[in-house]
Amino acid sequence: MKIQPNRLDRAYKLRQTEYEDAALRVLRSGQYILGDELKTFENELSAYIGTNHCAGLASGLDALTISLKLLGIGHCDEVIVQANTFIACIMSITKNNATPVFVEPDEYYNLDPTKIEAAITKRTKAILVVHLFGQASDMESIEATAKKHNLYIIEDCAQSAGAGQNKQVTGSFGDIGCFSFFPSKNLGGFGDGGAVTLNDPELAQRFRTYRNYGSNKKYHHETEGGNSRLDELQAALLRIRLRHLNEMTAERKTLCNRYLNEITNKQIIIPKIRKNSETVWHQFVIRTPQRDDLQKHLAENNIETIIHYPIPPHLSKAYKHLGYKEGSFPITEQYANTTLSLPLYIGMTEEEQSYVIDMINKFNK
Ligand SMILES: *Cc1c(COP(=O)(O)O)cnc(C)c1O
Repeated sequence: MKIQPNRLDRAYKLRQTEYEDAALRVLRSGQYILGDELKTFENELSAYIGTNHCAGLASGLDALTISLKLLGIGHCDEVIVQANTFIACIMSITKNNATPVFVEPDEYYNLDPTKIEAAITKRTKAILVVHLFGQASDMESIEATAKKHNLYIIEDCAQSAGAGQNKQVTGSFGDIGCFSFFPSKNLGGFGDGGAVTLNDPELAQRFRTYRNYGSNKKYHHETEGGNSRLDELQAALLRIRLRHLNEMTAERKTLCNRYLNEITNKQIIIPKIRKNSETVWHQFVIRTPQRDDLQKHLAENNIETIIHYPIPPHLSKAYKHLGYKEGSFPITEQYANTTLSLPLYIGMTEEEQSYVIDMINKFNK
């Protein structure tokens, strides 16, 4: 048996006619950019998340970058962000000429709320909270700290669509929630896409103006802007994904409960879930000091796995100029050296998962 980390074709085949009908409807409509599908999707997503507004954008990176920009964060400003995140988060900060201030993660792989205060300076403007691997961060503590120091909260929900804490859904806690619809995300489309969710109507309008060259009326440009529109085809397909998101999350939960219950190898540390937090299981991330040997053992048995993420941003070549070195963020570096994401996807068969579990339990090094 051959197992891949992800099989996007399975989720497609499960609802093939629904996707194809929607795609055909858009193709035949003659309306491909900024039409009714986008408006409807924005209304449906904001209703699902529990915010008053949503604006579709071209990617998750754009959602983060434009958010910081519209909040006025730039040169000389600092943004607090967890050190063990995907590099897009850091790029959204540096693309605005602001400075990322890294904070170590907690045992749930999310921003450690007890370490935020020590990182705050008079230049700090915002906390960028990443709900990594699908689990909601400790928003109660983070909100209290942000309020005390008058900081914006931007949530990165690229991996956490539908995850909640105390019955509130991620993307509705902070000033702005940022989403990516990259195909592998829980709410993934069939190409690139992104969105923001928020309550402030004026700010929502500024996103809509910005994404279309600073224009609300054709060839009337109120501000400088960019091209960051979510197209009609993606919006129509994402409406289907959103309609089935809870079912897809339930399937991921079933798969992950099996991993949690049936991985019995004592060398493996299985993921933990914070009390009152929920996870939508974007990834099932295990940890072991023998990670490289385990990955090799699985590969030899035709099971492909991925590491999220092998090089933390502070050690990435792209951020060499920030001046960090090995040892700057020991917990983050330890995670980078010991974590492994197991195969997980909609439509994973019982037989496939049994094989993965069996091979993990047989690992002995
Ligand atoms: C995928 C991802 C992004 C970037 O999204 P794109 O749509 O690829 O630009 C940002 N943050 C996190 C946590 C992600 O997983």
